[in-house]
Amino acid sequence: MISNDIYQAAHLLYKDEVVAIPTETVYGLAANIYSEKAVKKVFELKNRPFTNPLIVHIGSKNQLDDLAEKVPEIAQKLIDRFWPGPLTLILRKKNKVPDFVTGGKETVAIRMPNHGKTLQLLNLLPFPIAAPSANPFGSISPTSPDHVAAYFEHTIPMILDGGICQNGLESTIIGFENEVPTLYRLGSITVEELEHEIGPIKFQNFEENKTIAPGMMNRHYAPDTLTIVSTNIAEALHLYKGKKIGLLLFSPNNNYKNVAHQEVLSVKADLKEAAANLYAALHRLDAQNLDVIVTEQFPLEQWGRAINDRLKRASHPVSK
Ligand code: AMP
Ligand code: MG
Repeated sequence: MISNDIYQAAHLLYKDEVVAIPTETVYGLAANIYSEKAVKKVFELKNRPFTNPLIVHIGSKNQLDDLAEKVPEIAQKLIDRFWPGPLTLILRKKNKVPDFVTGGKETVAIRMPNHGKTLQLLNLLPFPIAAPSANPFGSISPTSPDHVAAYFEHTIPMILDGGICQNGLESTIIGFENEVPTLYRLGSITVEELEHEIGPIKFQNFEENKTIAPGMMNRHYAPDTLTIVSTNIAEALHLYKGKKIGLLLFSPNNNYKNVAHQEVLSVKADLKEAAANLYAALHRLDAQNLDVIVTEQFPLEQWGRAINDRLKRASHPVSK
């Protein structure tokens, strides 16, 4: 049921239920972090491996001391600048943070989301919530209540309606191993914004460290339809001639013919707008019964980096 009632959402969360909540990034499947029963349901609903840790969402910066052992100076700088907002910090956890939330890790991922309704909800609750994206593990993330309903309408009691997600792309994840700021996942806060604030950051090798974050798995965020990323769209369209083709473009281009369905992510070629529209466009494309989705490479800067990262994973072959 899609509803506006934050009190009902709070009530359900109290009762160890799972509720879908809006954030500025994507919709999440929320559970009380101290309820093993509720957190277990989240993993089961998503079909997500229990070893993959969840992000803990808090409603005010004060709650951080309760959960994290020590906040490095650089992390504090990022909190002051970007919270509430789409930046997740990996910090050394306090003992009270349950292992079933962190996948047994000594660290915990924390962020304060920037969504009015969810902040209101969080501030009604005496506990933080764990909330991974509200989609089955590996599939396209949801950026509207309808996307969530398509996945979980019959298996969760409530979807809290917060409209369309403004940023539309997951949070950026950064850790501080040995006090070195290290990027674990590209996301809604750009590398440029982070480096402007704290100087150079280290890039985790996204290919090799598969176990660190599920968002770093080769195939993720993926439509059911075969998806390819091409540096030469005309050539790709020729290759799939006669097939039912869906085309995903950054900005308008009238040169491409014979496509069954076309999505343009930003009429004015704005990367932030393109990022916000990415998942909704992939959902629409995936619903068209296409033979193939052809997408282009985005500029390797700002939000273009995260878009390319998601498209690369969306197009990664299914492993057998
Ligand atoms: P999701 O909510 O599905 O977008 O995924 C949450 C992301 O946070 C995943 O990529 C997790 O692996 C990552 N994450 C959560 N906790 C930790 C942690 N302690 N160390 C590293 N990554 C984490
Ligand atoms: Mg996810």
